[in-house]
Amino acid sequence: MLKTLEFENLKNMLLCAADDVIDNKSYLSELDAVIGDGDHGTTISRAMEILKESLGQGPEDDLKQLLKNIGWALLGVNGGATGPLLGSLFKGLSDGMDSGAEIDAAVLAKMFVSARDSVLKVSGASLGDKTMIDAFVPAVEAVLEDAGGDIVLMLERAGAAAVAGADATIEMTAKKGRAKNMADKSVGHKDAGAASMSLIFKGFEKGIKM
Ligand code: ADP
Ligand code: MG
Repeated sequence: MLKTLEFENLKNMLLCAADDVIDNKSYLSELDAVIGDGDHGTTISRAMEILKESLGQGPEDDLKQLLKNIGWALLGVNGGATGPLLGSLFKGLSDGMDSGAEIDAAVLAKMFVSARDSVLKVSGASLGDKTMIDAFVPAVEAVLEDAGGDIVLMLERAGAAAVAGADATIEMTAKKGRAKNMADKSVGHKDAGAASMSLIFKGFEKGIKM
């Protein structure tokens, strides 16, 4: 049971997410090679390196500012859809909270709602379009279930929902991003962005348990 999240927790979450993505760089590019242009592992790993660098610069005592800085840093990642989507995710998290060094379960829920709304605005994709949205939105919905104030339980559920959402993209027909050019041929293959998003949420879960 964890009632409040502090810098150390957030740091562990972000580092686990970043390292799990980076460790899966070739796998993610292989997924993207089947129905996209094969660069997702490279692009998202670059984004995760930038996230780690920004995280190292703090501030440690204001998590709103920290997340905002990370968001701006990610928006600057060039190449593809990933920078704007991830940047708006982190800026959205920041927008959902007040300045301070602690986050409780209720605030965390608000942060994820804000992140979801800002990602959806940038993305233009809907659930079922076979994108990272299909892992991200179910994860946010899982965060919003009543967890009795336990942040660990919230992130556990989110991790499971993100993985299930990414798996569900296998059967979907792509309607957004480069993969839509493949349309019917995309069926049978997991979406790379949904896969990386599930790694990010499983990383959050791993990090919060450290
Ligand atoms: P690019 O497609 O520009 O080469 P990446 O390869 O880094 O960028 O990322 C591809 C992933 O981005 C896709 O697998 C998909 O999940 C996601 N994606 C692409 N376009 C969108 C969009 N409009 N909304 C949400 N996700 C998207
Ligand atoms: Mg690509």
